[in-house]
Amino acid sequence: MKDGMYTATGQGQDGELTVKVTVTDGKLADVEVVDNHETPGVSEKALTEIPKRIVDGQSYNVDVVSGATKTSQGISGAVKAALVQADVGEAFSAHVTQTSADDQPVKHLSADLVIIGAGPAGLAAAVTAGEHGLKAAVFEKNGVAGGTANMGMGPLGIDTDIQRKGFNDISVPEALEEHMTYTHYRVDEDLVQTYFNLSANTIQWLEDMGVKFAGAFKYFKESNATWHVVQPDDGSQPGPGAAADMNKHLKARAEALVPLFILKHQPPQLLETTARSLGLQLRPLTVNVTM
Ligand SMILES: Cc1cc2nc3c(=O)[nH]c(=O)nc-3n(C[C@H](O)[C@H](O)[C@H](O)COP(=O)(O)OP(=O)(O)OC[C@H]3O[C@@H](n4cnc5c(N)ncnc54)[C@H](O)[C@@H]3O)c2cc1C
Repeated sequence: MKDGMYTATGQGQDGELTVKVTVTDGKLADVEVVDNHETPGVSEKALTEIPKRIVDGQSYNVDVVSGATKTSQGISGAVKAALVQADVGEAFSAHVTQTSADDQPVKHLSADLVIIGAGPAGLAAAVTAGEHGLKAAVFEKNGVAGGTANMGMGPLGIDTDIQRKGFNDISVPEALEEHMTYTHYRVDEDLVQTYFNLSANTIQWLEDMGVKFAGAFKYFKESNATWHVVQPDDGSQPGPGAAADMNKHLKARAEALVPLFILKHQPPQLLETTARSLGLQLRPLTVNVTM
């Protein structure tokens, strides 16, 4: 592990929590929960005890504090994500080597792929890149990942196991014909067909990542039941915003595979782009990415 300070987020009982992890001499020197929304009176022990257990055991695989399981798991997950940065950072030969003209530190990364924006498209690209061994880095300007889809309910799927289990038979050619007729052939048929063809595997891929679906539903009366509505992890009734839990799983998987930089309302400024490199101003850092 490369020495340095790393921050990452995890999912606690009442929302995201953020940890700061310090690695010194290749060892876990300190873990601190720097931001959380956990319930006072219930979570205190986990917030202090879990970081201590992680440092003492030099591992994020520690016993949870009883009565605060989700808080404990959130801290462990965040530390795991931070340590991925420490490892991946090394693989990426990321290091602060110089300061820019206005005295901001400059971080140099080398990556095969740079993804700007951690909406579902960016997160899915990041996970796919990571699963194929590509060195990718994701930059999100907002404080949360998931983009607009945090307001949605779920993705489309055609010929999925969920549909088959519900005796809801719909084939890709059938769905494509309906879609093209409905849109008066004004859309890119090849693109729609590719999307439809991949959709069943995508639903399965999400399920393998831990996303649960309440079922496949009709978006409107005349449509087929292709809308795979996400079942919220807390067991509540699915409704607007249910897809936020899909994004949480995508984000966790992305963080386990590639560095994810959540910038909290600091829109990155593109400094210089060539075919092989990209400069980003991400206060308080300037990042030069070589591809
Ligand atoms: C209310 C509502 C409900 C919806 N419901 C559904 C649904 O149930 N099912 C469905 O399939 N679709 C639904 N949609 C559509 C769906 O949300 C979008 O198609 C989907 O979010 C697009 O994903 P994306 O990753 O391409 O873009 P976005 O979700 O827009 O994500 C883009 C990300 O990039 C970030 N970003 C932008 N510029 C920069 C920059 N310069 N630097 C760094 N980061 C940047 C943004 O902050 C954002 O996080 C819904 C949309 C809305 C508005």
